[in-house]
Amino acid sequence: MTWQEQLKKFVNSIERLERYVHLTDDERAVLEKNRTTWGTTPHFAALMDPDDPNCPIRKQVIPSSLEQQNRYGMEDYLIWKENRATAEVRPDSIARQYRDRVAFTVTQVCGIYCRHCFRKELVVDGDLELNFNVDEGLRWLAEHPEVRDVLITGGDPFLLADDQLEYLIRKLRELPHVEMIRFGTRTPIVLPQRIDSGLKKVLGGYHKVPIWINTQCNHPKELTEETAKAVFELLGCGVNVGNQAVLLKGINDDVETFRALHQKLLQTRIKPYYVFYCEAAPGIDHFRTPVEKGAELIRDALRGHTTGLAQPMYVVATNIGKIPLMPDYYIKGKNDQEYFLQNHKGEMTSIPNVPE
Ligand SMILES: *Cc1c(COP(=O)(O)O)cnc(C)c1O
Ligand code: SF4
Repeated sequence: MTWQEQLKKFVNSIERLERYVHLTDDERAVLEKNRTTWGTTPHFAALMDPDDPNCPIRKQVIPSSLEQQNRYGMEDYLIWKENRATAEVRPDSIARQYRDRVAFTVTQVCGIYCRHCFRKELVVDGDLELNFNVDEGLRWLAEHPEVRDVLITGGDPFLLADDQLEYLIRKLRELPHVEMIRFGTRTPIVLPQRIDSGLKKVLGGYHKVPIWINTQCNHPKELTEETAKAVFELLGCGVNVGNQAVLLKGINDDVETFRALHQKLLQTRIKPYYVFYCEAAPGIDHFRTPVEKGAELIRDALRGHTTGLAQPMYVVATNIGKIPLMPDYYIKGKNDQEYFLQNHKGEMTSIPNVPE
């Protein structure tokens, strides 16, 4: 199947979903009465366990009645998170937290409507309506020479047609201050067919302004042979591929899954970049763990247990930028002569403390 065929056969009706799973009464009831946007590609739907409603893929795809509960979610989350109510005048498509880089939203269409999406108000529920005019965003960028790094996001920007992507990349490369172009896209995971010869032509070749991609993979089951092939093709185009996982309760918050995820990412040639604390967006309380959980998992599943290449940075994304929440047990103390350091097993060592 081509990527266009995958999208034509998008699994977003009960009838189509039933080709992949035996729905529980609960799932069916939510699907019948809930008006939320949901669905994914046949490729990703086929990874769901037909009989287990707790399947980690299934929980990312099929809406739950728990989404109606909202004890801890923040109202108007995206307005806060993306600084849309601050003094600087920007087009809707530009979200800004840093001086040297911005997030440029170019579409609200996705290859999966993740149940845990922090942009749910925009992408899944459609409560927040924004105007994503690409030329308006490009004009704003042209007037902001301090921006050297543009992160194109959505929705999923790789659902744009090849010629739209080609236009966007060409226009960005014409701006002398843009040093790198980044894409956040789940297509290598949910729609690996998207990485086809047309897209490779758009992305490939030597360019002074490189393209970096981050995808989102949350569970080792998501990493298929098709994904490995797509990543290999991207690397062949000179495009690096990283991962931004979301820490999700009941999906990847146990030591075995967390370690397997990061090891299998490297096996698939994907570099773990971030693990995000699940954000305080409305309707996703049930996916959220205590904040410390991610740091504990890095200590107990990754650091010392597997290569440093597999180590992501654990962060929470906030309105003032991403804030690291890494384990803080490494430096146990110091005096004038020594630093006392602890490893992942709790063993102690020391190194000399060099005065300034
Ligand atoms: C995440 C994000 C970025 C990019 O952050 P990096 O740490 O450089 O990956 C830039 N702008 C906004 C608004 C973001 O949310
Ligand atoms: S692909 Fe990204 S933007 Fe789309 S629903 Fe999933 S997390 Fe949200």
